Order: sequence, then structure tokens, then C-alpha cells
Amino acid sequence: MAPSVALVKCSTYDEGTVEESVSRALDLLGGIGKYVKKGDRVLLKINLLSASAPENAITTHPLVVEAVVKQVQSAGGIPVIGDSPGGPFNRKMLENAYEKSGMKAVAEETGAVLNYNTGSKTVSNPGGKLIKKLDVIKLLDDVDVIITLPKLKTHIFTKFTGSTKILFGVVPGLTKPAYHLKFQDVGLFSDMLLDILAYVKPTLSIMDGVIGIEGDGPGAQGDPKKAGFILASQDSVALDVVATTLIGMNPMEVPIIKRAVERGMATGSVNDITVLGERIDDMKVSFKKPSGNGSPLNTVMSSKIMRRIFLKAAVPYPVADKKCVRCGICRQNCPAGAITITDKARMDYSKCIRCYCCHELCPHKAIRLKRLL
Ligand code: SF4
Ligand code: SF4
Repeated sequence: MAPSVALVKCSTYDEGTVEESVSRALDLLGGIGKYVKKGDRVLLKINLLSASAPENAITTHPLVVEAVVKQVQSAGGIPVIGDSPGGPFNRKMLENAYEKSGMKAVAEETGAVLNYNTGSKTVSNPGGKLIKKLDVIKLLDDVDVIITLPKLKTHIFTKFTGSTKILFGVVPGLTKPAYHLKFQDVGLFSDMLLDILAYVKPTLSIMDGVIGIEGDGPGAQGDPKKAGFILASQDSVALDVVATTLIGMNPMEVPIIKRAVERGMATGSVNDITVLGERIDDMKVSFKKPSGNGSPLNTVMSSKIMRRIFLKAAVPYPVADKKCVRCGICRQNCPAGAITITDKARMDYSKCIRCYCCHELCPHKAIRLKRLL
């Protein structure tokens, strides 16, 4: 059966408008009661990339989270808001991120639970193609239902981040750089994300596409851009296919979607998806593409010398500029240990794998991507 994706207009972050749009999207999918039963603990897996204010559009907007919290509560469920952002996964870091992103206010307003369980564990993932043993946050054990709340964003490394990529947040804090190091090729990285999807199996995904990020997202180097919609689906990849089509991308150019199609996990075409609500053609908006090329470094050149030459010339490399305040966040998250902090962040390009985590997580927009060719 063709997967269904609900597409609903939501032109502004006004409480009433957002609640109405989220409610309509869920009604189109049969209503929240179809997915959440009385007493269920429901993880609302938000996009909490970093401690960033809602107006930066980097994190899921608190009004969208609040609207979903109220839906879950109306079905008798207990909403738990959580994510493992970039950087260390500890209480202090979570408190800061919840406060800045507006999640603390949502919890105070609605009585939703904010997750502070920072434990992690290794689980068996026999269905995984690359990862048979997966490191995940323990919070997954504490919930009955998982609803992801991705933010619509282009991505410098994976080209797009939505319903599927958001699941990287179930990998605990500083284990994420280790996964980046292990899966440097964007195709392998995408396969790894699909392995996580196969393990987590979210019940629903509800995307905040009211204002997204275009260009060099998913962090501060991208630009907020209005898209004006909420999407919802039981099928994470189908939702991403619709989202990318809406912002003018070819879904099959997004490595995660392409790999999902190759693995028989999804369709890569909106023509094979039942879109409920608005018509895609009426809601299209063009997003600027990211400048990175998500280059599969290990497969580009097998010879070490050629690879080094190619890397130097063709693949964008990160450089810190004078906005650098030497906070060390990039160094903490560099999977290759390629960054030292002296007068500013300095990269060792013989070690750098071009994952762009530094660019993504620098809160001061101090890292630019340069290329020689
Ligand atoms: S480049 Fe950015 S993240 Fe890195 S030390 Fe400088 S300000 Fe901090
Ligand atoms: S320097 Fe930046 S792009 Fe290079 S490996 Fe480290 S985090 Fe990734």
C-alpha cells in the first residue's frame, strides 16, 4: 500500500494556527488516538541540535512541540520531550538547550516531562546493514511510543535533514563523532541512519516546516526561510520525499533517500505517495541548496596520494575566521581530532575527514567552507 503523508498549511508561528495545523495533519492520518493510548509514555524526539533560540530555526519550534504535547495529552498519553544534541550528553548541557530552545517553557506550560536520563546502552540490531550493535540513549527504554518532530533543513553533509536524519539524535552525545569517523562516506553514513531507523521504528513523524533552514544548514550557517507547512506521516522516508520535493530538491539526490530506495525501504517518488490535505504544487517553495558536496571521501580516490591531492583541491575544507571565540565546541565534536585551539580554532587537514560537524555546531558562525577548485 502506498504510504500516506499529510500536508497542511501553517503560515505562521501563532499558537492557534499551529495547533489547528497539527490537529488537522493528525486527523488526516486517522487522529492521535490511533497512535497513542491512555497511559502511554510518548517520546517527542525533537531536533535539539544545539542550545539555540527558536527564531534561529535550528531547533523544532516550541509551538509545534506544544501542539503535539497537547495532542498526546488529549489521548491520555504522557509526553516526554527529549533528544541528545551535539556535544556532551549531560544534565547541564540539556538544561541549557531546553531553556534556550523554549522547551523548558513548553514543559512548564503543559506539564510535559523533559528528559534528563543521560544513560546509554549498546543494543543488538540484527536487521541493520552496517550496524549490528548500536549505541543508543537509554531513554528509548522508558517510552512506549516514539514520535519524531524534525525541523525542515538543508544539510551541508547529507544535503537534507528531516524525519530520517533526526534519528541520529538517539546516538548518545560524544558517540556521534565516533560514528562520523567510522562512516565517513555520505552513502555509508546514510546506511547507518537507515539502520537506526530500522531499530527505532518511530510511530509517527510530524515535521515543523513553518520556517526551515536553507543553504548551509543545519546549524547557524544556514538561513531561516519560510516554507509554511506541517507534514505528518507514519513513514519517515516518505515524509522526507515529500518535504524535499516541496523545497525544490530532487529526492533521489538526497543520499539517505537514495539509499532507502536501493534497500527497498522506500519509494523515491512523490507519485508513489498518497499526499493528504494540500496539493504539493500549491505549496512549493524553493530552498537554496547547501554548498558542501557530501563527498564520499573514501570512495573518491583509493590511492592515498591522489586522495590527498583531490581533497585539497576539490572538497570544501573548514577554516575558522576571526569570529572564533575559542570556545572549543568544534574541537570537542571533531571525530578526527583534527582541531586545536590556539589563537583560534586551527584544523589539521591531513586528519580532517570533511564531515563538517565543526561548521554545523559552531554557535558563532566562525567556520567557513573554502575550496580551491
Ligand atoms: S570555531 Fe566556533 S566552535 Fe570552534 S572554537 Fe571557534 S567559536 Fe568555538
Ligand atoms: S575539522 Fe571539522 S570537518 Fe574536519 S573532521 Fe573535524 S569536525 Fe569534521
